[in-house]
Amino acid sequence: MGLEPGPVKNMVQLLESCGVVVVRRDLGSNLIDALISWPDGRAPLVLIGDHAPGDRLRFTLAHELGHAVMHKVPSNRQEAEADQFASEFLMPADDIRHDLNNVSLARLAELKLKWRVSMAALLRRARDLGAISDFRYKQVNIDISTAGYRKSEPVEITQESPHAVAAAISTRIASGESIESIARDAMMTTEELRDAYVGSADVY
Ligand SMILES: [Zn+2]
Repeated sequence: MGLEPGPVKNMVQLLESCGVVVVRRDLGSNLIDALISWPDGRAPLVLIGDHAPGDRLRFTLAHELGHAVMHKVPSNRQEAEADQFASEFLMPADDIRHDLNNVSLARLAELKLKWRVSMAALLRRARDLGAISDFRYKQVNIDISTAGYRKSEPVEITQESPHAVAAAISTRIASGESIESIARDAMMTTEELRDAYVGSADVY
């Protein structure tokens, strides 16, 4: 993937650059952040919801990437393993350990902006890497609850937007293909295609 040390700048763009098709839609439920499908011999497809905060979506995508590369057959450890994978992917131990020494609530908010993961995930990472004591972990967790951050954390991380599908549509239109024909390929009506992609790219 050619990742540089430090925070992953944009998880959606990274996946797109590896050939993963990412589409963002209203999933009709706040309980699901993303759906993944990897048909045999074809590009993996990720459908992401438009309701989740940017930091949660990044973690979800890294978690699903973990499943994709590790789990050919189901196991009862797979969820914990995918979470471990996502943590190391978005917060590599060697790069982040120094940042996490003795974190406070205020420091977690700063680090959220830098690493683009939730304060709760950063705090867990600090404990898992031994950067804070168990006692401190519990203390800051209580601070998080008291501040009401379990429901909604401060420091908004903007959602990352997919671009590859819109770019592909633009390219086909530029080469003279009609919107009607592209909509047929996408199994959408012309209206739906316009609604979904006008605005996210120069599709007319
Ligand atoms: Zn999972």
